[in-house]
Amino acid sequence: MQAARRAGHEVLVVSDGVDRCIRRSLARLELTDLPVFSNRLEGQGPRDWRLAFPHADDACRRASGTCKCAIAEAALPRRPTLLIGDGSSDFCVAGEADLVFAKGRLIDYCRSHGIHHHPIADFADALPLLAELQRHADSVSVPA
Ligand SMILES: [Zn+2]
Repeated sequence: MQAARRAGHEVLVVSDGVDRCIRRSLARLELTDLPVFSNRLEGQGPRDWRLAFPHADDACRRASGTCKCAIAEAALPRRPTLLIGDGSSDFCVAGEADLVFAKGRLIDYCRSHGIHHHPIADFADALPLLAELQRHADSVSVPA
């Protein structure tokens, strides 16, 4: 993520996980300033918690707590978008992204839906491929 930011890309964490776990992981990586879109664990009392889905979208083709295609569309309009994903909550945005780095079940989904993707094992595999995102950025002309 730091390499992508150094290259001038905007990085968003968009997850079907829970905010508290994500923020804890990001803090360990000293990435506390990244925007996070995820499900939320909300305290209702000393021992009372509620799971909230602020980014759910009933119109989404996928029934996940966080609709990643709507967030990508709203947060990154007209920008080349790289998806790094691994599961079924990534399916809705996989067909919309300009570039997909896939792990796990997302590899099978991309293969069966004819979506161009790069299978990766981890972020280290993604690093040398980042230049491809820059090529997409260079090929997109944004009207002034
Ligand atoms: Zn969606």
